[in-house]
Amino acid sequence: MTGERGLMLVISGPSGCGKSSICRRLLEDERVVFSISATTRPMRTGETDGVDYFFVDKQRFREHIENGDFIEWAEVHGNLYGTLRGPMEEALAAGKTVLVEIDVQGGSQLKDLELPGLYVFIAPPNMDTLRARLVGRGTDAPEVIERRLKKAGEEMDKQDRYDHVVVNDDFEAALRTVRRLAGLEKEPSA
Ligand code: 5GP
Repeated sequence: MTGERGLMLVISGPSGCGKSSICRRLLEDERVVFSISATTRPMRTGETDGVDYFFVDKQRFREHIENGDFIEWAEVHGNLYGTLRGPMEEALAAGKTVLVEIDVQGGSQLKDLELPGLYVFIAPPNMDTLRARLVGRGTDAPEVIERRLKKAGEEMDKQDRYDHVVVNDDFEAALRTVRRLAGLEKEPSA
């Protein structure tokens, strides 16, 4: 441990762009930790409270807002999501790379706050691929998919706000690029 402050690594992109898969692989590196957001969205099968999200009701979420616990928060697809300040600060102080997987609106909000970090936009190769991925993962109803696709178009317009845009046509190549950008390409020396 060098005592150096860590890096906030913000990964954004439309639903279905592959950002979750990229984040999962990045998290295999012990230098990387996940910033666990709070959300009012119902838990999905396979998710764990305190691991994927802190699942809270609307009232608890509002308390967090009033207490100033969030760095940013937003309503996404009808649910509330927020990035908690406390865990983020702790991890950065411990020198970790703190991975913030966030929608484009949230990523833009963080950028507006001028919080130091690396802002990476993961782009799908094209909209047809995006549609196929959303349908293929089987987690969303058709109307939710249509909503996500419409939003994806708007989100693509904001990619210029990010420090880097990584097109996810070849998953391993995209992952390597993100690792390189975040300075994680070399394994830590023992
Ligand atoms: P999901 O419900 O599929 O897990 O996430 C829906 C969207 O909310 C995703 O685009 C996700 O990145 C975003 N999201 C997750 N956590 C946060 C957060 O703390 N703040 C904001 N603004 N968006 C978030």
